[in-house]
Amino acid sequence: MTVETVEVGPLAPGDVLVRVRAASLCHTDLEAIEGTLAVALPAVLGHEAAGEVFDVGPGVTGLKPGDRVVLSWNPHCGTCFYCEHGQPILCAQYLAHAPAAFHFDGRPRLACDAVPVHQLMYLGSFAEYCIVPAVSAVRVPDMMPFDRAALLGCGVMTGVGAATRVASMRWGDVAMVIGCGAVGLSAVQGCVLAGAGAIVAVDPNPARRQLAQELGATHAVEPDEAVDVARALTKDRGADVVIEAAGVPAGFRLSVEAVRPGGQVVWLGKVDVQQEVAFRWGSLMQEKRITRSSYGGARPQHDSPFSREPAWRAGLSWTR
Ligand SMILES: [Zn+2]
Ligand SMILES: [Zn+2]
Repeated sequence: MTVETVEVGPLAPGDVLVRVRAASLCHTDLEAIEGTLAVALPAVLGHEAAGEVFDVGPGVTGLKPGDRVVLSWNPHCGTCFYCEHGQPILCAQYLAHAPAAFHFDGRPRLACDAVPVHQLMYLGSFAEYCIVPAVSAVRVPDMMPFDRAALLGCGVMTGVGAATRVASMRWGDVAMVIGCGAVGLSAVQGCVLAGAGAIVAVDPNPARRQLAQELGATHAVEPDEAVDVARALTKDRGADVVIEAAGVPAGFRLSVEAVRPGGQVVWLGKVDVQQEVAFRWGSLMQEKRITRSSYGGARPQHDSPFSREPAWRAGLSWTR
């Protein structure tokens, strides 16, 4: 990565120019830096950020300069099969245009020495300014600090959503969160919001276990203790809900060993898409439900009480 001056083109219909005030580093950015995630180059990386609206393109009526926004890396058309089914993370346009790393219209917004510059995950927030689709600029309260707001855009949305959206958590359920990094700690807080009766945080790192307990985990254990602790809390059944946020094969295996028969497993972590992960077959049996989720079932504009319906419509108009 290098620091370069990038030219910003004129705003197209539905575009929002955001002055980035805080941007955080997500694992997916690291994958792009290390080369395990293929990204069209040259590109501005960064996809977890907050800032203020600096200018809006034609047709954007729900946002105005000065509005505080969190950026979402999941713009979606609102009309395809998956959007109609309430699964914007699978939006046909979103997935089709992602490899090119430009907006849905395929046109670059940035240039460096006349060479078009791509935007990671439709954002490219490691910059002082970025042009995003209106649907990706989610309004948040003015009082929310930028460095906290930035985290909502990816890690918090994913971890909290896993507990509150993807898993059908019931009041008093025994939940387990495997891996207590940024996403896992968000999942712990999501389990609190969802009404879990006990939350078992699992991580080999004592400092992370400590953080998990400060954020609501009732138990914090090493990976090799996890199954026993879950059983001790459930008359030997296993955890009702297990959320995996470690992204290692041992974590995926532990998730299905620790969940009870008929329980729910949500996988948030990932390994290389070509890598195979082995399971003891018996650990997959007994009516267990496994869901892999990239964004915690998030529908960012819909989820934010401060988002504006017209911004959503502007986001639609330019995709047609
Ligand atoms: Zn991310
Ligand atoms: Zn769609």
